[in-house]
Amino acid sequence: MTSPERPKALVTGAGSGIGAATAVALMEIGFDVALCGRRPSGLERVAARAPLLAREARIVVADLADRAATDRALDGLLATWPALDAVVLNAGINEMTPLAAPDTAAFDRVLEVDLVANFRLLRRLVPALREGGRIVVIGSVLGRFGIPNGHGYCAAKAGVAGLVRALALDLAPKKITVNAVMPGWVDTPMADAAITTQAPGLGMTGDAARAMFAKAVPIGRFLAPLEVARYVQFLVGSQAGGVTGQAVNLCGGTLA
Ligand code: NAD
Repeated sequence: MTSPERPKALVTGAGSGIGAATAVALMEIGFDVALCGRRPSGLERVAARAPLLAREARIVVADLADRAATDRALDGLLATWPALDAVVLNAGINEMTPLAAPDTAAFDRVLEVDLVANFRLLRRLVPALREGGRIVVIGSVLGRFGIPNGHGYCAAKAGVAGLVRALALDLAPKKITVNAVMPGWVDTPMADAAITTQAPGLGMTGDAARAMFAKAVPIGRFLAPLEVARYVQFLVGSQAGGVTGQAVNLCGGTLA
């Protein structure tokens, strides 16, 4: 980090799952963290860790699908934290988008939160990023291969890989790296919800469906949120300055 004071990071979707683990992991390596998300309760639980780590956590409540509210929330943050060292765009939703649905509302929602909002946030935040800064976007292995009815999610997550490739070239002269992490199954509320939704169609209980999905991962288990967070820790560190424009699969061998 090039900044003389404590480095500052913003993490979206920081109240649960991978985002919460990442926010704490960044505090552990010295960052003050702006915790962005929809629900204050989850963000407050993560912020409560900050004093124990002698760091500052700011809560930025914003629904990223609400463009005006997001702009206002970011303006509020940047008024007091005008410079950032790292941005981790992790917030996401996963809804199926059957072709027979009466409209494209689910597809529009998924594209908006999982892809378009990331570009809008980056347009606003890149000018605030210091030279040598770091951008990490959380994609998914479902940006690498398809699943039935996953049109919106698969398209958005494939889009994340394209977004980081292009932006990495724009920002290389400022020594800002831009990478995506593409996880497979990770043990989070999103995975729980996906299993609960899919289990009845498979004629299985949730536990049986979870065991089947875990068995299909070559390492035989879901990743823990902390395993993804540790990889983000590496990408934001000074030793990863040569890694940019990459979308790295963290998938327990699914894409081996
Ligand atoms: P999660 O549901 O715990 O986290 C998603 C977070 O995004 C939540 O905190 C949620 O409140 C936030 N969010 C959703 N919509 C938002 C909006 N409109 N505005 C602000 N915040 C919003 O699940 P997770 O697994 O930790 O998901 C984190 C990221 O990891 C997502 O981008 C997800 O697509 C990706 N991912 C997850 C898995 C998995 O198996 N869990 C696999 C691959 C990729």
